[in-house]
Amino acid sequence: MLRAAASAAAAGALVAGCDPHRDEDSGTVGREPSPSGAGQASPAPAHAARPPTRAPGLPVQIEHGPRGGHAVALTFHGRGDPKLATALLGEAERAGAKVTVLAVGDWLDEQPAMARRILDGGHELGNHTMHHRNICALPAAEAYAEISRCADRLRALTGSIGSWFRPSQTRRATDLVTGLARRAGYPHVLSYDVDSLDANDPGAPAVQRTVLESARPGSVVSLHLGHAGTVAALPPILDGLRRRGLRAVTTTELVT
Ligand SMILES: [Zn+2]
Repeated sequence: MLRAAASAAAAGALVAGCDPHRDEDSGTVGREPSPSGAGQASPAPAHAARPPTRAPGLPVQIEHGPRGGHAVALTFHGRGDPKLATALLGEAERAGAKVTVLAVGDWLDEQPAMARRILDGGHELGNHTMHHRNICALPAAEAYAEISRCADRLRALTGSIGSWFRPSQTRRATDLVTGLARRAGYPHVLSYDVDSLDANDPGAPAVQRTVLESARPGSVVSLHLGHAGTVAALPPILDGLRRRGLRAVTTTELVT
């Protein structure tokens, strides 16, 4: 059952992007997690997870950081084959880059070791809802549950609900979802200003071109774990950014 669910999630990740035009994949995964996870004692983290980030002076919904600096944030939809996720993190670390992973809660249930792996690489971890449903189309109670259940998973695994919340299947949150995220403990909603379109699997050169043509100082770039083309595109993206004097840093470092 677990293996089947993981396979379904990995296959689904090939088509499930963050924007509203891509299909949702997780409705068929169907393993409803126990609500008891929130009450478990948190393990003592080797790398402390950061609490939700507060960025004074920035809007509640953040699309980018300061344009006058020399940094960008590469932010990843956190789901899919853990081998590809681990390979992606390794490529970032070889280049001295930090990334932000917005993890889907059901992925954390299937791959709990990934939370620690992400933090141990010095990267940042956040909440990308429990099941990656179309959160802005859900009734308030269901949307809140999607946020709070993923927060519970993150807290159980790392001791923190994560630094950021990013809504699922949408670039921007509605006012309702923004309010629900705040109620769950996230002062900001993390949007983005550059869409790599990598979830469509256009090939590594296209992902590289799209990112490097659009990224500028302060950019928050949307990317996805679980896609081989994204893993292959990361080294040339980081090289291209470096040539332009831009460093890839955590989202918190970008905006604070
Ligand atoms: Zn997503």
